[in-house]
Amino acid sequence: MHYLPRFAVDKDGLCQVCAQNKVEDEAHFLFECGTYAIFRDKLEIATNCNFANMTTPDKFRAVFEHPYSLGRFMKSAFQKRKALRQIMGK
Ligand SMILES: [Zn+2]
Repeated sequence: MHYLPRFAVDKDGLCQVCAQNKVEDEAHFLFECGTYAIFRDKLEIATNCNFANMTTPDKFRAVFEHPYSLGRFMKSAFQKRKALRQIMGK
């Protein structure tokens, strides 16, 4: 899946902003990473979804049907990601 711009990932590709030890791919960024949970809550409300009860393809379909809400999530999450990575010197 290549819906989103590629991340400037670290060598091992693991997400650097949580302790979940997961590859930082689109699904992790959008639906899994605990660092963005507060923004994801708003995305679920805006899309009228409960991601916990949905398959990954269904989640992607839902958020791409709400590009404005997805954009807000991405903006907030990327800002937080950038700030955390700066703190870590990445
Ligand atoms: Zn993460």
